Amino acid sequence: LASRMLKPEDTVIKIGSVKIGSGNFVIMAGPCAVESYEQMIETAKAVKKSGATVLRGGAYKPRSSPYSFQGLEEEGLKILKQVGKEVDMLTISEVVNTQHVELVAEYVDILQIGSRNMQNFQLLTEVGKAKKPVMLKRGLSSTIEEWLNAAEYIMKEGNYDVILCERGIRTFETYTRNTLDLNAVAAVRRLSHLPVVVDPSHGTGRRELIGPMSRAAVAAGADGLIIEVHPHPEEALSDGAQSLTPAEFDVVCQEVQRILSVM
Ligand code: PEP
Ligand code: MN
Repeated sequence: LASRMLKPEDTVIKIGSVKIGSGNFVIMAGPCAVESYEQMIETAKAVKKSGATVLRGGAYKPRSSPYSFQGLEEEGLKILKQVGKEVDMLTISEVVNTQHVELVAEYVDILQIGSRNMQNFQLLTEVGKAKKPVMLKRGLSSTIEEWLNAAEYIMKEGNYDVILCERGIRTFETYTRNTLDLNAVAAVRRLSHLPVVVDPSHGTGRRELIGPMSRAAVAAGADGLIIEVHPHPEEALSDGAQSLTPAEFDVVCQEVQRILSVM
């Protein structure tokens, strides 16, 4: 179902007035984790001004360490929904288990499947039954074929609104948090009709590399970007080192627009 052989034309996902895919470029931005109403409203107003149409914010955080901040859970979803409504932006947040799919779907416009759950087939099946678009992040050590098969699990249940997200893979390199695989963007655009967005925040783990990798992603044919932005990155409860300030994010957006205008 995800293959371009069966469906040659690009899929366009429509959510309200926002279209994603086939030349409709989308910018998603916001903090790694929802921390407070104040943090979210400040971030949302800023990223919207810079051109983002989707507000991100994790409420359930699958952290590498069990002692790290795990998210505000349903309270976080309430804040995200409220802020999205106030600033008129779509929202995206991660769902981490099958029991939460209905709950998260009540609050957000796009369900995110995180890297660590890319091959959680029961979860993929559940979001396949949900009536909301799904953004499927590539697993930390997953091949392109495994990633597309994961999309297939969702689509098999009747949910065709799947957005693929390249977020970097595990390699021997440790200078960056992950290795952003732009090969995969170009490859997946050929293999599949689904939109593919790039996450340079998790793909690099380093604030100073987000601008260059965002520009490269656009040039490689990505249909969108998802970028972590925090009003005070040094105080962020998660992923501060890879979070841009709103001012830095604005510069990245302007550079991206310049590249899009000549493509
Ligand atoms: C995230 O988007 O905050 C996240 C946890 O990403 P990933 O699943 O790609 O690590
Ligand atoms: Mn993060």
